[in-house]
Amino acid sequence: MKKSDSSHALQTRIVHPEEDVTPGFESFAAPVTRASTVVFPDLKSVRALDWRNDAQWRYGLHATPTSSMLTQRLAVIEGGEYALLQPSGLSAISNVYFGLLKAGDDVLIPDNVYSPNRDHGDWLARDFGLTARYYDPMIGAGIAELIRPETKLIWLEAPGSVTMEVPDVRAITAAARARNVVTAIDNTWSAGLAFKPFEHDIDISVQALTKYQSGGSDVLMGATITRDRELHLKLKAARMRLGIGVSPDDCSFVLRGLPSMKARFETHDRTALALATWLKSRGEIAAMLHPAFADCPGHEFYKRDFTGAGGLFSVVFDGRYSPAQIDTFCESLELFSLGWSWGGAHSLAMPYDIASMRTEASWPHRGTLVRFYIGLEDEADLRADLERALATLEGGASVRGPQD
Ligand SMILES: *Cc1c(COP(=O)(O)O)cnc(C)c1O
Repeated sequence: MKKSDSSHALQTRIVHPEEDVTPGFESFAAPVTRASTVVFPDLKSVRALDWRNDAQWRYGLHATPTSSMLTQRLAVIEGGEYALLQPSGLSAISNVYFGLLKAGDDVLIPDNVYSPNRDHGDWLARDFGLTARYYDPMIGAGIAELIRPETKLIWLEAPGSVTMEVPDVRAITAAARARNVVTAIDNTWSAGLAFKPFEHDIDISVQALTKYQSGGSDVLMGATITRDRELHLKLKAARMRLGIGVSPDDCSFVLRGLPSMKARFETHDRTALALATWLKSRGEIAAMLHPAFADCPGHEFYKRDFTGAGGLFSVVFDGRYSPAQIDTFCESLELFSLGWSWGGAHSLAMPYDIASMRTEASWPHRGTLVRFYIGLEDEADLRADLERALATLEGGASVRGPQD
């Protein structure tokens, strides 16, 4: 590209600056390379463009050096070969649907799936001529009986959102492989650190980078990661057609979070395990839905397949407490905030009405479920906060009259 010199008019010198300040400069930060236009040295290079070639630069929407730096690192963390970035975790989920399915196809989705994924499946079934069916996440090898000739995709989530059942991933991928059905896992809970999907014959892994990868509760991003080039190209084609890209600034925020991710994950894991152990000993809690505890369906698959848990788990309160009392408990917490998303430094709590969220798997519990995300605060302070909020339950129970 032409650089200006003092013979040019001021306006040209502003557009084509003459200075080059970068030689000799080196730092640890990922350079933010912004682009819509990508400039080619000659027309031969333009004519040699092939959208399948990830090594070519084409247009800022598709990739820049900043986004490629991130996709390469994500593929390494997950144990994959290829990664594509999306503006949110949900967008990564929708890219899997649009990349792989067409009218007439069938998709199987776990009943405890991340709710917006369920809504996406329902939408495609209602308006785009697919069928979306839900399966009990603990179905294991029984999934084989649900696979039809039209079934083109099986979703997994391990553990499943909110209720935390850990599926028998190997049994499901074996059944899918036998019938040539693609499997995609929402692997956000493990951050790609504690569960390695490609070692269990999964085809596509989805990460909400919004969570642990960002770590700051301030960036939205998602990714699909694959080992299979054909699948990668299907996802890439859909992403291009839908006009999806991510900002290099956001990529740089996620790149900043990656080196500390494992240390953060292990700290979340340690504090969450300690608090879950303490909560389980409390009379207010009927079930501890943390995969490292035997109460949690699929605990044996967690022990077999996972190397850690991070900060997200759920509890079921004893059925003697009303949903209103559990609301009061949640609102009484001071160090835990009420809010969605997780993966940052701040602890969160949220009650859920599970029975209204599923259609296939029965829900055995009577009490209200609360999902906790354990942040990076001090464990003793979080425990004291929980203990104080739990005391509101007993107070509430004692003032409840017979008419309540
Ligand atoms: C948060 C989350 C998503 C979606 O990520 P966004 O970036 O918020 O769209 C998907 N799956 C799971 C399991 C999540 O927790």
